Amino acid sequence: MSDIIEKLSQNRDLSDDEFRTLITSDDPILAKELSAHADAVRRENYGTAVFLRALIEMSNCCVNNCLYCGIRRGNIGLERYRLSPEDILMCCEVAYQLGLRTFVLQGGDDATFTDSYMCALIAKIRTRFPDCAITLSIGERSYESYKRMRDAGADRYLLRHEAADEELYSRLHPSEMSLENRKNCLRSLKKLGYQTGAGFMVGAPFQTADHLIADLRFLQEIQPEMIGIGPFIPHRSTVFANENKGSLALTLKMIGIIRLMFPKALIPATTALASSDPSGRELGLKTGANVVMPNVSPLSVRKQYDLYDNKLSSGEEASEGLESLYKKITEAGYTVSQERGDALKDPEIEAVRFKRNPYV
Ligand code: SF4
Repeated sequence: MSDIIEKLSQNRDLSDDEFRTLITSDDPILAKELSAHADAVRRENYGTAVFLRALIEMSNCCVNNCLYCGIRRGNIGLERYRLSPEDILMCCEVAYQLGLRTFVLQGGDDATFTDSYMCALIAKIRTRFPDCAITLSIGERSYESYKRMRDAGADRYLLRHEAADEELYSRLHPSEMSLENRKNCLRSLKKLGYQTGAGFMVGAPFQTADHLIADLRFLQEIQPEMIGIGPFIPHRSTVFANENKGSLALTLKMIGIIRLMFPKALIPATTALASSDPSGRELGLKTGANVVMPNVSPLSVRKQYDLYDNKLSSGEEASEGLESLYKKITEAGYTVSQERGDALKDPEIEAVRFKRNPYV
């Protein structure tokens, strides 16, 4: 094994210079070694299990205007929808019958999702499906709001930070959005005991290796239980319509690096990865990813959750393609888990936390 990968495996860290060398290397042997090592670390921690998350895309309404996003409020050509609480419960029921034990309620930053609306919905799901994990992914909110939803029964929260570098963040988002606020939201979620998911795009416009290093450093600060990264894919109705999509090789490399830095993390082989390349999902799994998120939203709205061009919402990325998905996972050398798939505790991180505050 090359020295740099050996060092990353041992220390879970590298200097900025070493990260830069690894990220910018186009040596296929190094990439292969990284992938093999990341897979070994994933097997040491989670065996061959691949955890399934039922993805319910609740609403494509969003008050924000992120420059890269197909459902941003400025995209006036998009037909908007919002599932009713009854629709969402029906999606949970379908997912449960299919053996899925985590529901991910994802949507734009939709003003309809008030605390009382969300708490009532979470409480209903919690009562009806007590053995399932409830994951939320509905954007930036106040500490109090996150607390109410946690108290109502939510277990996990996904909030990709997308770009941890101030300058890059400001080139991808309108001026009314703040990176510091997003980072503080993630800090709040951790404090409240959510299994917290952060993450970022690979190959976004203007992104450099140093920006990716900033993402890794921020992940080191947050220590998320879940880390979602996927290639940037342009959307035809955004200012980035003509930009190149992020490279599959670099996305895989970042997944491998993250697996070595965060051995206990839950890392999805994202829909963006599967949408970007026909074998993207399986390559992601072979490079350390251990989660897939089949879409269980009603067929009638799937095309409208149009984050980027050619986003997959059928076949193996959806509930009706589960059999085929299971076959592909098995053929890739892994096993489908029917468990909730909570993150394992990391003894090294727990020890640091205990040192800081032994009474928590
Ligand atoms: S990335 Fe998220 S917050 Fe930004 S516009 Fe799209 S849905 Fe809204």
